[in-house]
Amino acid sequence: MTKWLGAVLLSVLLLATAACANTSTQENNQSKQESKTNETKEKTTAVETGNKSLSNIKVLATGGTIAGASDSDTDTTGYKSGSLGIDKVIASVPQLKNIANVTGEQVANVGSENVDNALLLKLAKRVNQLLNDDQVDGIVVTHGTDTLEETAYFLHLVVKSDKPVVVVGSMRPASAISADGPLNLYHAVKIASTKEAKGKGVMVTLNDRIASARFITKTNTTTTDSFKSLEQGYIGEIAGEVVSFYNEPTRKHTTESEFDVSKIKELPQVDILYGYQNDQKYVYDAAVKAGAKGIVVAAAGNGTMSTEAIKGATDAVKKDVVIVRSSRAGNGIVTHEKMDDEHHFVSSDSLNPQKARILLMLALTKTKNPDKVQTYYEQY
Ligand code: GLU
Repeated sequence: MTKWLGAVLLSVLLLATAACANTSTQENNQSKQESKTNETKEKTTAVETGNKSLSNIKVLATGGTIAGASDSDTDTTGYKSGSLGIDKVIASVPQLKNIANVTGEQVANVGSENVDNALLLKLAKRVNQLLNDDQVDGIVVTHGTDTLEETAYFLHLVVKSDKPVVVVGSMRPASAISADGPLNLYHAVKIASTKEAKGKGVMVTLNDRIASARFITKTNTTTTDSFKSLEQGYIGEIAGEVVSFYNEPTRKHTTESEFDVSKIKELPQVDILYGYQNDQKYVYDAAVKAGAKGIVVAAAGNGTMSTEAIKGATDAVKKDVVIVRSSRAGNGIVTHEKMDDEHHFVSSDSLNPQKARILLMLALTKTKNPDKVQTYYEQY
Protein backbone atom coordinates (compact mmCIF):
# COMPACT_ATOMS: atom_id res chain seq x y z
CA MET A 1 0.00 0.00 0.00
CA THR A 2 2.78 2.43 1.03
CA LYS A 3 4.75 1.37 -2.06
CA TRP A 4 1.69 1.98 -4.22
CA LEU A 5 1.14 5.45 -2.67
CA GLY A 6 4.82 6.22 -3.18
CA ALA A 7 4.59 5.28 -6.86
CA VAL A 8 1.47 7.44 -7.37
CA LEU A 9 3.09 10.44 -5.66
CA LEU A 10 6.23 10.02 -7.76
CA SER A 11 4.27 9.90 -11.03
CA VAL A 12 2.24 13.00 -9.99
CA LEU A 13 5.51 14.77 -9.22
CA LEU A 14 7.04 13.74 -12.53
CA LEU A 15 3.93 14.78 -14.45
CA ALA A 16 3.87 18.15 -12.67
CA THR A 17 7.57 18.74 -13.41
CA ALA A 18 7.03 17.81 -17.05
CA ALA A 19 4.03 20.13 -17.26
CA CYS A 20 6.05 22.93 -15.72
CA ALA A 21 8.96 22.32 -18.03
CA ASN A 22 6.57 22.25 -20.92
CA THR A 23 4.95 25.54 -19.91
CA SER A 24 8.29 27.21 -19.40
CA THR A 25 9.51 25.92 -22.80
CA GLN A 26 6.30 27.24 -24.31
CA GLU A 27 6.83 30.57 -22.52
CA ASN A 28 10.40 30.65 -23.73
CA ASN A 29 9.34 29.90 -27.26
CA GLN A 30 6.62 32.50 -27.02
CA SER A 31 8.97 35.15 -25.66
CA LYS A 32 11.55 34.26 -28.34
CA GLN A 33 8.79 34.58 -30.91
CA GLU A 34 7.69 37.92 -29.40
CA SER A 35 11.19 39.30 -29.37
CA LYS A 36 11.60 38.20 -33.00
CA THR A 37 8.34 39.94 -33.90
CA ASN A 38 9.49 43.02 -31.98
CA GLU A 39 12.77 43.04 -33.85
CA THR A 40 10.89 42.90 -37.14
CA LYS A 41 8.54 45.62 -35.92
CA GLU A 42 11.53 47.82 -35.00
CA LYS A 43 12.70 47.58 -38.55
CA THR A 44 9.38 48.34 -40.18
CA THR A 45 7.68 50.89 -37.89
CA ALA A 46 9.13 53.87 -36.11
CA VAL A 47 6.88 53.55 -33.08
CA GLU A 48 4.72 51.09 -31.16
CA THR A 49 1.12 51.87 -32.10
CA GLY A 50 -0.52 49.42 -29.66
CA ASN A 51 -3.35 51.44 -28.12
CA LYS A 52 -5.07 53.42 -30.87
CA SER A 53 -6.54 55.95 -28.43
CA LEU A 54 -3.08 56.98 -27.20
CA SER A 55 -0.40 59.11 -28.90
CA ASN A 56 2.67 57.42 -30.36
CA ILE A 57 5.76 58.91 -28.75
CA LYS A 58 9.32 58.10 -29.67
CA VAL A 59 11.99 58.53 -27.01
CA LEU A 60 15.42 59.26 -28.47
CA ALA A 61 18.10 58.63 -25.86
CA THR A 62 21.48 60.34 -25.77
CA GLY A 63 22.66 59.48 -22.23
CA GLY A 64 23.20 61.76 -19.23
CA THR A 65 22.28 61.45 -15.58
CA ILE A 66 18.74 60.31 -16.42
CA ALA A 67 20.47 57.12 -17.62
CA GLY A 68 23.12 57.32 -14.90
CA ALA A 69 23.75 54.82 -12.12
CA SER A 70 25.94 54.34 -9.10
CA ASP A 71 26.49 51.47 -6.64
CA SER A 72 25.27 53.67 -3.83
CA ASP A 73 21.77 55.12 -3.62
CA THR A 74 23.02 58.18 -1.72
CA ASP A 75 25.68 58.98 -4.28
CA THR A 76 24.21 61.82 -6.33
CA THR A 77 27.48 63.11 -7.78
CA GLY A 78 30.04 60.30 -8.32
CA TYR A 79 27.88 58.18 -10.63
CA LYS A 80 28.52 57.28 -14.26
CA SER A 81 26.18 59.07 -16.64
CA GLY A 82 24.85 57.17 -19.63
CA SER A 83 25.10 53.73 -17.96
CA LEU A 84 21.56 52.48 -18.66
CA GLY A 85 20.08 51.72 -22.06
CA ILE A 86 16.81 53.44 -23.05
CA ASP A 87 14.76 50.24 -22.73
CA LYS A 88 15.74 50.03 -19.04
CA VAL A 89 14.98 53.71 -18.52
CA ILE A 90 11.53 53.32 -20.11
CA ALA A 91 10.86 50.08 -18.22
CA SER A 92 11.55 51.89 -14.94
CA VAL A 93 8.44 54.02 -15.55
CA PRO A 94 5.68 51.43 -16.25
CA GLN A 95 3.08 54.20 -15.86
CA LEU A 96 4.09 55.48 -19.31
CA LYS A 97 1.89 52.72 -20.80
CA ASN A 98 -1.19 54.53 -19.49
CA ILE A 99 -0.46 57.79 -21.28
CA ALA A 100 1.18 56.89 -24.61
CA ASN A 101 2.54 54.18 -26.85
CA VAL A 102 6.21 54.70 -26.11
CA THR A 103 9.12 53.29 -28.11
CA GLY A 104 12.79 53.98 -27.36
CA GLU A 105 15.78 54.41 -29.62
CA GLN A 106 19.37 54.81 -28.51
CA VAL A 107 21.02 57.57 -30.53
CA ALA A 108 24.03 57.79 -28.18
CA ASN A 109 24.81 57.11 -24.53
CA VAL A 110 27.19 59.83 -23.38
CA GLY A 111 27.56 62.54 -20.77
CA SER A 112 26.36 65.70 -22.50
CA GLU A 113 29.80 67.33 -22.19
CA ASN A 114 30.65 64.92 -25.02
CA VAL A 115 27.79 65.89 -27.31
CA ASP A 116 29.56 67.26 -30.38
CA ASN A 117 28.45 68.82 -33.67
CA ALA A 118 28.30 65.43 -35.39
CA LEU A 119 25.89 64.11 -32.75
CA LEU A 120 23.78 67.28 -32.93
CA LEU A 121 23.38 66.79 -36.68
CA LYS A 122 22.65 63.07 -36.33
CA LEU A 123 19.99 63.72 -33.69
CA ALA A 124 18.34 66.60 -35.57
CA LYS A 125 18.17 64.61 -38.79
CA ARG A 126 16.63 61.62 -36.98
CA VAL A 127 14.05 63.87 -35.26
CA ASN A 128 13.04 65.34 -38.63
CA GLN A 129 12.87 61.91 -40.23
CA LEU A 130 10.67 60.54 -37.44
CA LEU A 131 8.35 63.55 -37.33
CA ASN A 132 7.78 63.11 -41.05
CA ASP A 133 6.18 59.75 -40.25
CA ASP A 134 2.39 60.03 -39.79
CA GLN A 135 2.57 57.40 -37.06
CA VAL A 136 4.82 59.52 -34.86
CA ASP A 137 2.93 62.11 -32.78
CA GLY A 138 5.78 63.52 -30.75
CA ILE A 139 9.39 63.09 -29.70
CA VAL A 140 11.08 63.05 -26.32
CA VAL A 141 14.87 63.40 -26.18
CA THR A 142 16.63 62.22 -23.02
CA HIS A 143 19.85 64.16 -22.45
CA GLY A 144 22.51 65.03 -19.90
CA THR A 145 21.71 68.31 -18.21
CA ASP A 146 25.13 69.97 -18.57
CA THR A 147 24.66 70.97 -22.21
CA LEU A 148 20.97 70.12 -22.56
CA GLU A 149 20.05 73.73 -23.36
CA GLU A 150 22.43 73.77 -26.36
CA THR A 151 20.90 70.66 -27.97
CA ALA A 152 17.39 71.88 -27.20
CA TYR A 153 18.05 75.28 -28.80
CA PHE A 154 19.70 73.64 -31.82
CA LEU A 155 16.61 71.45 -32.33
CA HIS A 156 14.37 74.49 -31.77
CA LEU A 157 16.08 76.10 -34.79
CA VAL A 158 16.22 73.12 -37.16
CA VAL A 159 13.22 70.84 -36.50
CA LYS A 160 10.88 71.09 -39.48
CA SER A 161 7.62 70.14 -37.81
CA ASP A 162 5.09 71.58 -35.38
CA LYS A 163 4.68 68.25 -33.57
CA PRO A 164 5.89 68.43 -29.96
CA VAL A 165 9.55 67.81 -29.20
CA VAL A 166 10.46 67.71 -25.50
CA VAL A 167 14.01 67.49 -24.16
CA VAL A 168 14.33 66.02 -20.68
CA GLY A 169 17.07 65.17 -18.21
CA SER A 170 17.47 64.67 -14.51
CA MET A 171 19.74 66.02 -11.83
CA ARG A 172 19.94 62.77 -9.86
CA PRO A 173 20.94 59.39 -11.29
CA ALA A 174 18.43 56.58 -11.66
CA SER A 175 20.02 54.76 -8.70
CA ALA A 176 19.59 57.64 -6.21
CA ILE A 177 17.04 58.05 -3.41
CA SER A 178 14.37 60.39 -4.80
CA ALA A 179 15.68 60.13 -8.35
CA ASP A 180 13.98 62.87 -10.39
CA GLY A 181 14.39 61.14 -13.78
CA PRO A 182 11.29 58.88 -13.75
CA LEU A 183 8.82 61.71 -13.05
CA ASN A 184 10.61 64.07 -15.44
CA LEU A 185 10.38 61.40 -18.17
CA TYR A 186 6.71 60.80 -17.38
CA HIS A 187 6.09 64.56 -17.68
CA ALA A 188 8.02 64.76 -20.96
CA VAL A 189 5.90 62.00 -22.50
CA LYS A 190 2.77 63.61 -21.11
CA ILE A 191 3.69 66.99 -22.68
CA ALA A 192 4.63 65.37 -25.99
CA SER A 193 1.20 63.72 -26.13
CA THR A 194 -0.70 66.91 -25.32
CA LYS A 195 -2.45 68.65 -28.24
CA GLU A 196 -1.70 72.16 -26.93
CA ALA A 197 2.03 71.41 -27.09
CA LYS A 198 1.90 71.58 -30.89
CA GLY A 199 3.61 74.57 -32.48
CA LYS A 200 5.36 75.74 -29.31
CA GLY A 201 8.85 74.93 -30.57
CA VAL A 202 11.20 72.64 -28.72
CA MET A 203 10.42 72.42 -25.01
CA VAL A 204 12.42 71.40 -21.98
CA THR A 205 10.94 69.88 -18.85
CA LEU A 206 12.46 69.23 -15.42
CA ASN A 207 11.07 69.83 -11.97
CA ASP A 208 7.40 70.19 -13.06
CA ARG A 209 8.11 73.15 -15.40
CA ILE A 210 7.72 73.45 -19.17
CA ALA A 211 10.20 75.86 -20.71
CA SER A 212 11.01 77.02 -24.21
CA ALA A 213 14.43 75.90 -25.45
CA ARG A 214 15.05 79.58 -26.32
CA PHE A 215 15.07 80.69 -22.69
CA ILE A 216 15.89 77.79 -20.40
CA THR A 217 19.33 77.49 -18.80
CA LYS A 218 21.07 75.41 -16.17
CA THR A 219 21.71 77.62 -13.14
CA ASN A 220 22.95 75.26 -10.44
CA THR A 221 25.47 72.41 -10.54
CA THR A 222 23.53 69.87 -8.48
CA THR A 223 20.07 70.92 -7.26
CA THR A 224 16.85 69.55 -8.76
CA ASP A 225 15.52 73.09 -9.42
CA SER A 226 18.60 73.90 -11.51
CA PHE A 227 16.78 74.67 -14.77
CA LYS A 228 15.42 78.22 -14.86
CA SER A 229 13.88 80.51 -17.38
CA LEU A 230 14.69 83.59 -15.37
CA GLU A 231 13.69 86.73 -17.26
CA GLN A 232 11.14 85.37 -19.72
CA GLY A 233 9.47 82.77 -17.51
CA TYR A 234 8.26 79.26 -18.23
CA ILE A 235 5.70 78.54 -20.92
CA GLY A 236 3.79 76.07 -18.76
CA GLU A 237 3.61 73.85 -15.77
CA ILE A 238 2.52 70.34 -14.83
CA ALA A 239 0.51 69.78 -11.69
CA GLY A 240 -0.57 66.21 -11.02
CA GLU A 241 -1.80 64.88 -14.35
CA VAL A 242 -2.64 68.32 -15.75
CA VAL A 243 -0.41 70.00 -18.34
CA SER A 244 -1.06 73.75 -18.54
CA PHE A 245 0.38 76.24 -21.03
CA TYR A 246 0.43 79.98 -20.35
CA ASN A 247 2.99 81.51 -22.78
CA GLU A 248 4.78 80.74 -25.99
CA PRO A 249 8.01 81.94 -27.59
CA THR A 250 7.55 84.84 -30.00
CA ARG A 251 10.87 84.48 -31.85
CA LYS A 252 11.13 82.28 -34.98
CA HIS A 253 11.60 78.55 -34.52
CA THR A 254 10.96 75.11 -36.10
CA THR A 255 8.58 75.50 -39.07
CA GLU A 256 9.37 79.23 -39.45
CA SER A 257 13.12 78.80 -39.20
CA GLU A 258 15.23 79.17 -42.34
CA PHE A 259 17.98 76.86 -41.06
CA ASP A 260 18.03 73.47 -42.71
CA VAL A 261 20.28 70.63 -41.60
CA SER A 262 19.15 68.15 -44.24
CA LYS A 263 22.13 68.86 -46.50
CA ILE A 264 24.68 69.89 -43.88
CA LYS A 265 27.44 67.33 -43.30
CA GLU A 266 29.53 69.42 -40.91
CA LEU A 267 28.88 72.53 -38.85
CA PRO A 268 31.47 75.34 -38.82
CA GLN A 269 33.81 75.57 -35.84
CA VAL A 270 32.66 78.28 -33.42
CA ASP A 271 34.47 78.86 -30.15
CA ILE A 272 33.61 80.75 -26.99
CA LEU A 273 36.23 83.02 -25.42
CA TYR A 274 35.76 84.32 -21.91
CA GLY A 275 36.20 87.98 -20.99
CA TYR A 276 38.06 88.74 -17.73
CA GLN A 277 40.46 91.26 -16.23
CA ASN A 278 43.84 91.23 -17.97
CA ASP A 279 42.60 89.03 -20.83
CA GLN A 280 44.94 88.92 -23.83
CA LYS A 281 44.81 89.22 -27.61
CA TYR A 282 46.67 85.94 -28.09
CA VAL A 283 43.67 83.79 -27.20
CA TYR A 284 41.82 85.30 -30.19
CA ASP A 285 44.89 84.80 -32.40
CA ALA A 286 45.11 81.16 -31.28
CA ALA A 287 41.42 80.46 -32.00
CA VAL A 288 41.68 82.00 -35.47
CA LYS A 289 44.91 80.14 -36.19
CA ALA A 290 43.26 76.86 -35.15
CA GLY A 291 40.47 77.45 -37.68
CA ALA A 292 37.57 79.08 -35.82
CA LYS A 293 35.04 80.52 -38.26
CA GLY A 294 33.18 82.32 -35.54
CA ILE A 295 33.91 83.46 -31.99
CA VAL A 296 31.37 84.17 -29.28
CA VAL A 297 32.74 86.38 -26.53
CA ALA A 298 31.39 85.60 -23.07
CA ALA A 299 32.12 89.21 -22.29
CA ALA A 300 31.60 91.09 -19.05
CA GLY A 301 28.36 92.97 -18.27
CA ASN A 302 26.56 94.30 -21.33
CA GLY A 303 29.21 92.74 -23.59
CA THR A 304 32.13 95.01 -22.74
CA MET A 305 35.55 93.97 -24.02
CA SER A 306 39.04 95.05 -22.98
CA THR A 307 41.30 96.95 -25.41
CA GLU A 308 43.38 93.77 -25.85
CA ALA A 309 40.29 91.62 -26.56
CA ILE A 310 39.02 94.21 -29.06
CA LYS A 311 42.41 94.11 -30.82
CA GLY A 312 42.22 90.32 -31.06
CA ALA A 313 38.61 90.41 -32.22
CA THR A 314 39.17 93.10 -34.90
CA ASP A 315 42.12 91.12 -36.30
CA ALA A 316 39.82 88.08 -36.43
CA VAL A 317 37.16 90.08 -38.33
CA LYS A 318 39.81 91.00 -40.93
CA LYS A 319 40.18 87.23 -41.51
CA ASP A 320 36.40 86.85 -42.06
CA VAL A 321 35.78 85.41 -38.59
CA VAL A 322 32.44 86.58 -37.19
CA ILE A 323 32.57 87.97 -33.64
CA VAL A 324 29.45 87.85 -31.46
CA ARG A 325 29.35 89.67 -28.13
CA SER A 326 27.38 87.82 -25.48
CA SER A 327 27.63 88.12 -21.71
CA ARG A 328 29.01 86.13 -18.83
CA ALA A 329 26.52 87.92 -16.52
CA GLY A 330 24.01 85.09 -16.88
CA ASN A 331 21.00 87.25 -17.63
CA GLY A 332 19.92 90.18 -19.72
CA ILE A 333 20.25 91.53 -23.24
CA VAL A 334 23.56 92.48 -24.85
CA THR A 335 22.49 95.59 -26.72
CA HIS A 336 23.73 96.57 -30.17
CA GLU A 337 26.23 99.40 -29.63
CA LYS A 338 28.40 101.81 -31.60
CA MET A 339 31.37 99.46 -31.09
CA ASP A 340 29.55 96.81 -33.16
CA ASP A 341 29.17 99.15 -36.13
CA GLU A 342 32.73 100.40 -35.71
CA HIS A 343 34.36 96.93 -35.55
CA HIS A 344 31.73 94.87 -37.44
CA PHE A 345 30.84 92.89 -34.33
CA VAL A 346 27.45 91.32 -33.65
CA SER A 347 25.50 91.54 -30.38
CA SER A 348 23.76 88.42 -29.07
CA ASP A 349 20.45 89.86 -27.80
CA SER A 350 19.42 87.71 -24.81
CA LEU A 351 21.19 84.53 -25.91
CA ASN A 352 23.76 83.33 -23.40
CA PRO A 353 27.20 82.43 -24.83
CA GLN A 354 26.47 78.72 -25.30
CA LYS A 355 23.22 79.39 -27.17
CA ALA A 356 24.75 82.30 -29.11
CA ARG A 357 27.31 79.74 -30.33
CA ILE A 358 24.54 77.41 -31.58
CA LEU A 359 22.90 80.24 -33.56
CA LEU A 360 26.26 81.42 -34.93
CA MET A 361 27.08 77.93 -36.27
CA LEU A 362 23.77 77.88 -38.13
CA ALA A 363 24.10 81.52 -39.26
CA LEU A 364 27.52 80.71 -40.75
CA THR A 365 25.92 78.00 -42.92
CA LYS A 366 24.17 80.93 -44.64
CA THR A 367 26.51 83.93 -44.56
CA LYS A 368 29.74 85.46 -43.21
CA ASN A 369 28.35 88.98 -43.38
CA PRO A 370 28.13 90.39 -39.80
CA ASP A 371 25.17 92.65 -40.68
CA LYS A 372 23.21 89.69 -41.95
CA VAL A 373 24.28 87.59 -38.93
CA GLN A 374 23.03 90.42 -36.69
CA THR A 375 19.53 90.06 -38.20
CA TYR A 376 19.43 86.42 -37.08
CA TYR A 377 20.08 87.46 -33.47
CA GLU A 378 17.14 89.86 -33.77
CA GLN A 379 14.77 87.22 -35.16
CA TYR A 380 15.60 83.93 -33.41
N1 GLU B 1 27.75 65.58 -17.07
C1 GLU B 1 26.66 64.70 -17.27
C2 GLU B 1 25.81 65.11 -18.46
O1 GLU B 1 25.61 66.25 -18.74
C3 GLU B 1 25.81 64.57 -16.07
C4 GLU B 1 24.98 65.76 -15.76
C5 GLU B 1 23.52 65.49 -15.89
O2 GLU B 1 23.06 64.83 -16.80
O3 GLU B 1 22.81 65.96 -15.01
O4 GLU B 1 25.34 64.22 -19.11
